[in-house]
Amino acid sequence: MTAREIFIALAYMIAAACFVVGLIWLQTPKRARAGNILSALGMLLAVIATLLAKEIVDYSMIVLGIVIGTAAGAWMARTVPMTGMPQMVGLLNGFGGAASALIAAAEYFHYAAGKGPALDLTIAILLTMLIGAVTFSGSMIAAGKLQGVVNERAVTYPFQQPINLILALTILATGAYLVIDFAHPWVFGYFIVASLVLGVLFTIPIGGADMPVIICLLNSFSGLAAAMAGFVVKNNALIISGSLVGASGIILTQIMCWAMNRSIGNVLFSAFGATVTAGAGGKSAAGKTVKPIQADEAAILLAYAQLVIIVPGYGMAVSQAQHAVRQLADELGKRSVAVKYAIHPVAGRMPGHMNVLLAEANVPYDQLYDMDQINDEFQRADVAIVLGANDVVNPAARYDKSSPIYGMPILNTDHAKNIIVMKRSMNPGFAGIENELFYHDKTRMLFGDAKESLTKLINEVKSV
Ligand code: NDP
Repeated sequence: MTAREIFIALAYMIAAACFVVGLIWLQTPKRARAGNILSALGMLLAVIATLLAKEIVDYSMIVLGIVIGTAAGAWMARTVPMTGMPQMVGLLNGFGGAASALIAAAEYFHYAAGKGPALDLTIAILLTMLIGAVTFSGSMIAAGKLQGVVNERAVTYPFQQPINLILALTILATGAYLVIDFAHPWVFGYFIVASLVLGVLFTIPIGGADMPVIICLLNSFSGLAAAMAGFVVKNNALIISGSLVGASGIILTQIMCWAMNRSIGNVLFSAFGATVTAGAGGKSAAGKTVKPIQADEAAILLAYAQLVIIVPGYGMAVSQAQHAVRQLADELGKRSVAVKYAIHPVAGRMPGHMNVLLAEANVPYDQLYDMDQINDEFQRADVAIVLGANDVVNPAARYDKSSPIYGMPILNTDHAKNIIVMKRSMNPGFAGIENELFYHDKTRMLFGDAKESLTKLINEVKSV
């Protein structure tokens, strides 16, 4: 081994250690930032080591790629709002898949011009192409659904599953053909197009409340594609980092499924999440009406409470109300009111969405409680504030078998003594369904933008 090869091998080993320790640190909010930085440093080291590899004969295209990629990444990081993060994660998953697929295509044409690769390499190239292409097209559809440019509903049509099965079988057959006889660019072309179509068909039947799970699953796929690409170009850092992304993505997918009380198979094949219309004009479908409350009345309820539980949801992200809610909690704290935050695993539009926003506002970690930790405490709470949350507090999930969110564990907000719901209107949440919690006897609606309502509430609490 030359000194350069030893340096590269050592650098990859240190980078791999950084990824693993970084992932472990990501498990707790206190160390998450350091974990992120450590993993990024590991990736920097891996990139530098890769750039020193002797196979690289010309750096000009690499420099061009770095400049374009950095400019695009910096622009996205600066301009994409917090509410657009899930779409951005979807896009980035897709780009990861596309990068792996492009590596597979380049290696295919490289070997097809010669006498073809060994069997293991052929299989690695085909798997990289398949998983990369499915990840790319599937992620584009998922990002389009979240952005609202593709129909958000579960799109179904006759013979959907048999059509998918036939398509998958033709991919398998062309793959087998290429293993036997590699140099057939047209067959490989069909393999690519069919894989892209499979990604689209795989994602369009999934709608509504299942999007978080699919984004996690596609994230896992992008890792698998990268790991496969690592086998193709014989790069250990790529194999390790891809495997870690693949494994953590699949674990997160499983956690999301548990949070929604669904199996991955059910999410993928049940065309769940079609939108149902909610009641309009403050009246439920059953004709019940809601009871509004003004900020001054709400302030009195809060100021004399002993325990207040805040349930943040997507509306807090839209309104960027995380700083205001912290100020309210501080104000209540001065009056010896205990304040806790109840975090549902799929609140918001991406895993950890609420934790990230509340951490940004420096809400102490020990005030954040997972669903399992806090659900029994709601019955002791004098007031539960539902801050721009909807689906994650919808009691229909417990018993209404016809509801698209049936079976999803929810926060027991309806067990609190008083419930204040802060939202702008009677519009439904992501699943598009009516929420009976809003019509409950104990519930009062504080209508308005979350941040504006909180600002009024803080002033009123100060004057109580
Ligand atoms: P929901 O989407 O159910 O509800 C959000 C509510 O916020 C709406 O009813 C809306 O009502 C209100 N809102 C919007 N803007 C504002 C504002 N400026 N001020 C006050 N309120 C506002 O959110 P939840 O967090 O309860 O549930 C998350 C849903 O998203 C689940 O169905 C989940 O499956 C899904 N999902 C989750 C992902 C994740 O990874 N966490 C990813 C993708 C989807 P109004 O318009 O009347 O104000």
